[in-house]
Amino acid sequence: MPEAIVVGAGIVGAACAYRLAEAGLRVLVLEKEATFAQGSTGKSAGGVRVQFSEPLNVLLSYHSIREYREMAEARYRPIGYLFLVPEALKEAQEEALKTQQALGVPVRRLSLAEARGFVPFREDGLAFATFGPMDGVIDPHGATGFFLREARRLGAEVRFGEAFLSARREGGVWRVETPLGRYEAPYLLLCTGAWTGEVGRRLGVDLPVHPARRMVYATAPLGHAPTYPLTIDLATGFYFRPEGERLLFGRSNPDEPPGFREGVDWAWLGPTLEAGLFRFPFLEGLALDRKASWFGYYEMTPDANPILGYVEEGLLVAAGFSGHGVQQAGMVGRLMAEEVVYGKARTLDIGPFRLERFREGRFVKERGIV
Ligand SMILES: Cc1cc2nc3c(=O)[nH]c(=O)nc-3n(C[C@H](O)[C@H](O)[C@H](O)COP(=O)(O)OP(=O)(O)OC[C@H]3O[C@@H](n4cnc5c(N)ncnc54)[C@H](O)[C@@H]3O)c2cc1C
Repeated sequence: MPEAIVVGAGIVGAACAYRLAEAGLRVLVLEKEATFAQGSTGKSAGGVRVQFSEPLNVLLSYHSIREYREMAEARYRPIGYLFLVPEALKEAQEEALKTQQALGVPVRRLSLAEARGFVPFREDGLAFATFGPMDGVIDPHGATGFFLREARRLGAEVRFGEAFLSARREGGVWRVETPLGRYEAPYLLLCTGAWTGEVGRRLGVDLPVHPARRMVYATAPLGHAPTYPLTIDLATGFYFRPEGERLLFGRSNPDEPPGFREGVDWAWLGPTLEAGLFRFPFLEGLALDRKASWFGYYEMTPDANPILGYVEEGLLVAAGFSGHGVQQAGMVGRLMAEEVVYGKARTLDIGPFRLERFREGRFVKERGIV
């Protein structure tokens, strides 16, 4: 009999399975798809950054990036994140920079002239820039595969193509049903990303996570490998980064209705380009590669920050990262294992991200959501 059942083999479930197995628990992973990283993880842009305003976000990313840095499979590339800060967000970003520097993570303020040394851009309405040299990109498939391989090496069983259907708590264990079998374990961890709201309903627990479609558009190969950092114009949320000889770019649509809407939204390309070309006129001549563009689902919570830790006896959730879960999964795996083993995560205080905040009507104010 397993001691912990982890539902979901995205990067978060894989990291949790690994750290639980490492702590000596018998772990069973249930994944509805035929292999790992088929949900948001495989659709991510792979960006990792310490540039957040909420201290817990800064630290979750910082510790995870340090872990990815040592993991060959994560293919960490410290290309840096360049944030262009508009006048309207000047004070908020100065505050965020203070928080980051007080926590000792590497981020520095740049003048606009210094920032133009990284990327050419139009300065209208901008106040300054920040640059995080430890920020960059990883390969989310590689990292997820590593976590699962290590979990298995430590005895975890991973069952693909087996969806979690329902569970009930009885006699101190969760009795879990799938179309293929029944399992029981004292601990049940939901790492089900954008599907977590739906999975919660099956358990009768209100877990406010919903899917919101997001696009990554790709240019055709440029004929050389550009060396820009991942650059974000905070005035509009438009970002781009190099991938091999291409540039990838996107911008969140605040009016995207919740739900699993399928296909790349080509209508959103116009507003995305409008924002991008205004700030970065050099993008004008680049050709789009429709076939290399893709969509996936952000796993949104009401305050765009995750739900972490116990929600009921023996029931834990690590989900709802709202578009920044790849960069936090490594540390979240360790914290969820601590939550099980010690009854409470102890390396970091996950209090700000517990489900209670929504039950009590409190929201985390993270200013670095893109
Ligand atoms: C376009 C896009 C760009 C992004 N860019 C970034 C970025 O640059 N940096 C970053 O950090 N994050 C980014 N993200 C967000 C990131 O991808 C997610 O936060 C992260 O992958 C969440 O991981 P997860 O394991 O929680 O979810 P998922 O990867 O979605 O994994 C959940 C798993 O649960 C499985 N599952 C669901 N229901 C069941 C069930 N009933 N039974 C069994 N299995 C089930 C699913 O099949 C899935 O495999 C981006 C996301 C998108 C869509």
